[in-house]
Formats: sequence, structure tokens, C-alpha cells
Amino acid sequence: MICPYCGFEDSRVVDTRDIGRTIRRRRECRRCGKRFTTYEQVALTVSVVKRDGRREPFDREKVMRGLRIACAKRPIPTESIERIVDRVEEFVFSQGKAEIPSRDIGNLVLEQLRQVDPVAYIRFATVYLQLPDLDAVRREIDRLITSGSG
Ligand SMILES: [Zn+2]
Repeated sequence: MICPYCGFEDSRVVDTRDIGRTIRRRRECRRCGKRFTTYEQVALTVSVVKRDGRREPFDREKVMRGLRIACAKRPIPTESIERIVDRVEEFVFSQGKAEIPSRDIGNLVLEQLRQVDPVAYIRFATVYLQLPDLDAVRREIDRLITSGSG
């Protein structure tokens, strides 16, 4: 498997997981040391259907990037973020469907994030739910506080 960062042809498998009809391998390049993910599956790819109807292949790293931005400078361990991404990935590949709406993925991220860090949740929700103004943000915060105490 060729390293997507430096093109080296030898990598070490650091983690193997069976997620439904897919086997995911985390690999580490033996030259540059960067990690990347490969999927092994039976002629099955999952496309994410975006709001505007366009489709793109599910990309774990993209979910991770969005989460890192939402969680920036918050006291959230990297493992917590990885766990959320793992859940999302398992969800996507365990559906046995060729396509998943992006909102299903976003909602799942929000659900998980809410339990991890309220500020990161609001950040993610502001972008993801496209909250148009402060009132909408406030409603979301109210909802969060209400469900948190209830
Ligand atoms: Zn490399």
C-alpha cells in the first residue's frame, strides 16, 4: 500500500477492525511515519449524499477535520475525537447501504459531541446546522441546557 503522503511502498498495519462488511486498517508508513487508513470491502463503497444532492465517497479524515475544528482549544482528548469518528464510521458501513445522507452523519456527530463537550457541540452545530443568527444559536443552547438538566 503506497503512502499517500510520501509515496513510499512499505507500511506497517497498526490496527485492524472488522466493521460490518468492511475491514479497516490503520497503517503507518515505514519511511515518514504518517498514518493513513485503508478499507477492504466486497465491491461496496458508501457515498455520502450532500445537501445539494452531490455525492462523494465517505471520508473518515474529513469527519475528523470537522471535529478537530469544533474541538480546537477545548479540553477534549484526541481519543474522544477518534472514538466519535469510529462510531460514525461504523454507522456508515454497518447500514449495508450504498448511500448515506450527510445529515445522518452530522446528526450522529452532534449526538456524540453533545455528551463530550457543550462548547464544541455548539461550534459544530453552528456550522453544520447552518444556524443563521444569534437567536438560533441561543435556542440551540437552551435546548442543550434543558436536555442536560432533564
Ligand atoms: Zn510516507
